[in-house]
Amino acid sequence: MKIPSAHMQAIVAHALTGYPFEVCGVLLGRNHSPAESAARVEKVIPVANRETEAPRVRFQIAPEDLVRIQREGRDEGREVLGYYHSHPDHPARPSETDRRIAAEGLSDGVIHVVVGVEGGLHAEPTAWVFRDRTQAFEKEPVEVE
Ligand SMILES: [Zn+2]
Repeated sequence: MKIPSAHMQAIVAHALTGYPFEVCGVLLGRNHSPAESAARVEKVIPVANRETEAPRVRFQIAPEDLVRIQREGRDEGREVLGYYHSHPDHPARPSETDRRIAAEGLSDGVIHVVVGVEGGLHAEPTAWVFRDRTQAFEKEPVEVE
């Protein structure tokens, strides 16, 4: 995926300020043609983590928030390319819970940026794409523009 530097910085800043809780958000961009090599993130929208029981290790995006963002995106000719969330003091890769949730939905090709946050000081963003074929995440190369 391609992402402007300012957008990646916004994701990292959100992950750091939200520590020790998981933060989450939505990635919007243009639908990329198969001929193009990478999806391009054009907009990053922080969303409140609606998880109430275990917000340090789980996140939940409320359906009404997602519907609102999808509608706004459509008005601008953009669609939801994927999501981001943070892992406070956990590795910067999707957890088994992340995999299970992705496998439940229509998730083929959906991008997941996962930001590992150590001690609220150091953040490591990584990107992944879910594949229905393997029911697993593959590492997604990130090109910061
Ligand atoms: Zn996760």
